[in-house]
Amino acid sequence: MNIHEYQAKAILSRFGVAVPAGIVIDDAQKAQDAARELQEKTGTNSWVVKAQIHAGGRGKGGGVKLARNLDEVKTKAENILGMQLVTPQTGAAGKKVHKVLIQQDIYYPGASEIRELYVSVLLNRATGRNIIMYSTEGGMDIEAVAEKTPHLIYKEEIDPSVGIQPFQARKIAFNLGLEGKAFKEMTRFVTALYKAYIESDASLFEINPLLKTSDDLIFAADAKVNLDDNALFRHLDYAELRDVNEEDPSETEASEFNLNFIKLNGNVGCMVNGAGLAMATMDIIKLSGGEPANFLDVGGTANAQTVEAGFRIILKDPSVKAILINIFGGIVRCDRVAQGVVDAYKSIGTVHVPVIVRLQGTNAVEAKNLIDQSGLKVFSAVSLQDAADLVRKSV
Ligand code: GDP
Ligand code: MN
Repeated sequence: MNIHEYQAKAILSRFGVAVPAGIVIDDAQKAQDAARELQEKTGTNSWVVKAQIHAGGRGKGGGVKLARNLDEVKTKAENILGMQLVTPQTGAAGKKVHKVLIQQDIYYPGASEIRELYVSVLLNRATGRNIIMYSTEGGMDIEAVAEKTPHLIYKEEIDPSVGIQPFQARKIAFNLGLEGKAFKEMTRFVTALYKAYIESDASLFEINPLLKTSDDLIFAADAKVNLDDNALFRHLDYAELRDVNEEDPSETEASEFNLNFIKLNGNVGCMVNGAGLAMATMDIIKLSGGEPANFLDVGGTANAQTVEAGFRIILKDPSVKAILINIFGGIVRCDRVAQGVVDAYKSIGTVHVPVIVRLQGTNAVEAKNLIDQSGLKVFSAVSLQDAADLVRKSV
């Protein structure tokens, strides 16, 4: 589950990770009050106004603006709220901004230089261990750094049985070129960050930029956090962090029916039980010259209702030119699924695209008869090759 920057910073702050003072608003009228409150709290005379969307690269898209006085805070908030923000990560359509974060500007001038660093905690699946990735080259071009100069990105692997050790925190601060007070601040920062990652059951904590201020404090200037969906049951309070505005509406609807649904950009809708069969089905679609319009695993307990829900969700996508239903009846009986398809087809009314159904396993023969006798424009396929041929003819 993705969350917003302001939510990520609230989590970080609970674990003692230093974050700039900020207030999130959804109405530009509240911008100046928020800025004044931050001024009273921190003494700041400048602020950053930051679009809250579930995508990075906001700075490049014009979603992060510096404001040097209260009037600017208001106009920048007005400009950003409601805008359709396009960044390198949103795709051409962009994302609508519903909330902005007004934050104390921590890039203030002072005795020594300001530095933008990078640090993230994530799971290295190859070794099954968490790693801390970090670099002196933080800021808006970290992707280019990773691509062109990968030796500038360091990795520190953490032993899960003991967690981050003080020598590791010191090594990270040293490799980042920090000294004195900033060095000490950094060891505290990275230790708290690792604890936050572990205890919140996250799969990613990325701080970019991590800022060393001119008075040698270390702050998370930005925060991208991904929480592990499989651990949500351990954190009931996370439910309120979910923002359905940021999700694809068809994915939200699918989650209400416990369907594993991912929207893709192709022209053949598919409904399958089991993730392995779903992936194989996507391969078949590609081999027949089509492109999958979605990934949909209806799960091992597919019934007439879930089949109907999946069918409706796929049909809402105007680019779908054919639907392939590929179900293996192990626990679920094929005739029940067939009945679900027929009922869904009838209750939806007119279905303009050909539907190809391959049902194999328990009661497959009964299922095929049900489909063939329904009088509907549903084609039944027996083998994978039949299914592929029918898809080829349809797209
Ligand atoms: P992203 O582009 O979505 O990753 O958003 P960031 O939060 O990283 O902000 C983009 C850029 O805005 C950063 O790389 C900084 O250069 C700049 N920025 C962020 N916070 C501040 C701040 O407090 N003051 C100033 N002056 N610039 C900031
Ligand atoms: Mn960033």
